[in-house]
Amino acid sequence: MASIRENLEIIQQRIEDAKTRAHRKDDHIQIIAVTKQVSVERTKEALEAGIIHLGENRPEGLLAKKEAIQDQAIWHYIGTLQSRKVKKVINEIDYLHSLDRMSLAEEIEKRAVNPVKCFVQVNVSGEESKHGLSKEEVIPFIQSLEKFSKIQVVGLMTMAPNTDDKEVIRKVFRGLKELQQEIANLNLPYAPCQELSMGMSNDYEIAIEEGATFIRIGTALVG
Ligand SMILES: *Cc1c(COP(=O)(O)O)cnc(C)c1O
Repeated sequence: MASIRENLEIIQQRIEDAKTRAHRKDDHIQIIAVTKQVSVERTKEALEAGIIHLGENRPEGLLAKKEAIQDQAIWHYIGTLQSRKVKKVINEIDYLHSLDRMSLAEEIEKRAVNPVKCFVQVNVSGEESKHGLSKEEVIPFIQSLEKFSKIQVVGLMTMAPNTDDKEVIRKVFRGLKELQQEIANLNLPYAPCQELSMGMSNDYEIAIEEGATFIRIGTALVG
């Protein structure tokens, strides 16, 4: 297994190259190390390599990692969140990447002590198997969040379809960016919507070319 430092160096070079291609040299792109499949030890290695953002997709995994790791980290919950699990995790995380329904928003409103930075998850590709709102549903959904004091929509999140066709993937990321700009232009105080959480091990370079500000990387970094 390669060291995380070595993996990170390769990824950082590819990020720089993608930024150059996209004329985004001055943009800061946050790398979230997705540690859902690795041990506490490996997660600590990521922090030692300079990673500060950690992503988990199950409440149990998040809480176990958090308890074991004393270092300062910024915690991202990237998986589907069942409403009955909100209470367990919502005050333990810095970002939620999977806000996708009103019942979840209501539960967050009830349980969160402070406002939570949320990404609204969008199923841009329309695949049956994927979570998230359809593109058409996103703006009405965000407008209906105005009444909540504990939800801040910092951006949109998507997962690309499972395909080798780079143009299909690119189109999905581009669609998310267009939607993000449309929402940002609404100037909603509770939904600044400046961020784009998109790109994983196999497609982060395309995501950066299309405007990602947070990339979520598991296997290529810590796997
Ligand atoms: C697992 C996971 C990732 C990381 O996937 P890799 O392909 O291992 O980089 C990113 N985002 C979400 C939502 C995930 O569940």
